[in-house]
Amino acid sequence: MTEKESRKLSDEYEVADVLGKGGFSVVRRGLSKCPSAGERSHVAIKTLQRFGSTPPGLPRNRAGEKGLTSLGFPMWKQVSISDALLTNEILVMRKIVEDVSPHPNVIHLHDVYEDSNGVHLVLELCSGGELFDRIVAQDKYNEVDAAAVVRQIAEGLAALHKANIVHRDLKPENCLFQSTSEDSPLKIMDFGLSSVEEFTDPIVGLFGSIDYVSPEALSQGKISAASDMWSLGVILYILLSGYPPFHATSNRHKQQIILAGDFSFDDHSWKTISSSAKQLISSLLTVDPHRRPTAQQILQHPWVTGDSAKQDLMD
Ligand code: ADP
Ligand code: MG
Repeated sequence: MTEKESRKLSDEYEVADVLGKGGFSVVRRGLSKCPSAGERSHVAIKTLQRFGSTPPGLPRNRAGEKGLTSLGFPMWKQVSISDALLTNEILVMRKIVEDVSPHPNVIHLHDVYEDSNGVHLVLELCSGGELFDRIVAQDKYNEVDAAAVVRQIAEGLAALHKANIVHRDLKPENCLFQSTSEDSPLKIMDFGLSSVEEFTDPIVGLFGSIDYVSPEALSQGKISAASDMWSLGVILYILLSGYPPFHATSNRHKQQIILAGDFSFDDHSWKTISSSAKQLISSLLTVDPHRRPTAQQILQHPWVTGDSAKQDLMD
C-alpha cells in the first residue's frame, strides 16, 4: 500500500464528527463517497499531524491528553517526536496489514492518504467506545466478562507478537469495542509507540502510560512481547477491582513499586475473586519478563478458557 498522493482523501470520503483526540492526532468519522454495495461505508479517519502543525485546541507541549507519558524527555522535544511517531505508526500499520490482518481483535487499516495537513489513516470504525469508558461505567467487571476481555486482548497480542510487533502502549484507552452491543468484539489499536523487531527503532525514551509500563521498560528501556503481557496483567487487575495495582502519590514512588513488583490482593474487594484469577494476575505481573506467560499460553489458562469457573461450580 502506498500513500495516495494523487487521490485526495476528500475525493473519496466525507469527513464528519470528531470521534476522539490523542496527543498528535484527531480521529474523525468518515463516510465513503463511492459506495461499493449500495451502502456508504463508515470508517474512522485518524489524522496524524506533521511537524509544525498542531491539532486544533491541543497544546503543543504535551505528549498526550490521556496517559501518554514521556519519561526523560524535556517538554520542548516533544513536538519533534510527533514526526517520529507518525512515521512509526504508518510502518507498524503496514506490517499489520501484511502479516496480521484480518484479525477480529486488531484494528484494520483500509487506506493511507497524505496531504499538507499530515497523514490520514483510514481505519475500520469502532463505534463501541474505549474499554476505559466501559470500566468507568461499570466500576468493575465480573470474572466471566473480564475473562472475555482478556481472551480477546490475548488473541490480538498473540497475532501481533507472532508478527514480531510489540504494542508498547497497551491500556484500556487503546482497546476499542467495535459496536455498543454487550458482546461486541474488542480491538487493539493505536500503534504509535509500537515496534517491529525487524525494521523499526523503538522510539527511545518514550514509553506508554506509567500505570501500565513494565519494570524492564523502566529499568533498562528493554521492551519485548513480555512487556505487553505485563500491561495485560495491569488491565486485568483493574478490570476485577476497579483500581490499579500500583498506586502511589508520586511518579517516583510509583516507579519504585513497579520495579519491585509490589502489589497485593489485600483489599476486601479481592476476597470474592477466584484464586485462579489471582494466580493469572500474579504470573503476568512477574518482574522477570522471561517468567511471564506468553499470549499463546494465556489463551490456554483455565481462567481464560472458562474451565476454572466450571470446576468451581462442580466443587
Ligand atoms: P493517539 O495515538 O493520539 O492516542 P488513538 O489512535 O488512541 O490516538 O485515537 C484517539 C482516540 O480516537 C481513541 O482513544 C478513540 O476514542 C478514538 N478512535 C481512534 N481510532 C478509532 C476508530 N477506529 N474508531 C473509533 N474511534 C477511534
Ligand atoms: Mg491512544
